[in-house]
Amino acid sequence: MHELSVCQGLLRQVKQIALEHRATAVEKIYLQIGPLAGVEPALLQAAFPIASADSLAAQAQMVIRAMPIRVHCRRCHADTEASLNNLTCADCGDWETELLSGDELLIERIEMQTPQ
Ligand SMILES: [Zn+2]
Repeated sequence: MHELSVCQGLLRQVKQIALEHRATAVEKIYLQIGPLAGVEPALLQAAFPIASADSLAAQAQMVIRAMPIRVHCRRCHADTEASLNNLTCADCGDWETELLSGDELLIERIEMQTPQ
C-alpha cells in the first residue's frame, strides 16, 4: 500500500519534530492534503495505526485538512479554484494555467506532550 510508506515518511518528520521539543507523546497531527497529492486520505488514516505502532505517536490522532485546487491563469491572470479533472481557468476557460495549490502533502501542526 502506497499510503503506508507515505505515512511512515510523515511519521519520520513527526518523530524529528517531537525529539526537537523533547516531547513525551504526540497527541494530534494536522495534515494538509491536496487532491493532486496522489494520496487517498481514507487510506492514509487506515495506515496510520500500523505505521505509528510502538512510536511516540502511537496514541495520536491524525487530522486531515483537504486543500482546494487553485490555478493561476497565464492569459487573464486570474487565480481561481479548479477541479481534479479540469484545471482550466474558471474566469476565461483558458487551459494555460499554473498550479498554485492542490498538490500539498504537509504537516501543518503537531500537538504534543512536553515535560513541564
Ligand atoms: Zn483566465
